[in-house]
Amino acid sequence: MKIGVLALQGAVKEHLDMISSAGAEAVVIKTVDQCDEIDGIIIPGGESTTIGRLMKIYGFIDKLKEFSNQGKPIFGTCAGMILLAKEIVGQTENHLGLMDMKVARNAFGRQRESFEANLPIKGLESPLRAVFIRAPLIEKVSPEVEVLSEYNGKIVAAKQGHLLAASFHPELTDDFRLHSYFVNMVKQYSLVK
Ligand code: GLN
Repeated sequence: MKIGVLALQGAVKEHLDMISSAGAEAVVIKTVDQCDEIDGIIIPGGESTTIGRLMKIYGFIDKLKEFSNQGKPIFGTCAGMILLAKEIVGQTENHLGLMDMKVARNAFGRQRESFEANLPIKGLESPLRAVFIRAPLIEKVSPEVEVLSEYNGKIVAAKQGHLLAASFHPELTDDFRLHSYFVNMVKQYSLVK
């Protein structure tokens, strides 16, 4: 099973290592054609407007919509989560719009630009150490979206079928359980395809 990490901008290497730790083959994705070789993809954190603009230029917006239509899992972390959302507060351009939720960028304010927290996550047996860096949050979800985690009453992780989103950077500790969770989603897709 091969899982790609979109490598246009942002935190790529750590995700590759986590995918390998979780027992799947990790692939650096730089061109749309490579998407045909993989079973799932991670869109990493970074700067969402930059990643979105590059996705548009290189054809990833259309390609990843098609990827999702085939039922192939996508995991968006931080900026990647923003790009997955149907609605981004104050912004309309260059995103995938696949997950039925509304997100706000840089939502934790200046004092809390980056911080860590032990987050209980549905499906994981004990809390995950989560690193938030100028993190977005999910303001609203439709009934199709399952909330997986909240921090101080705000939604910070969610799943809609084969789509997974997290406000934080799950690749920056040595705990790869959320990557294992995603690898399992990809396994399930591979079984039904
Ligand atoms: N604040 C960034 C944005 O809005 C996301 C930060 C991150 O991915 N760590 O794009």
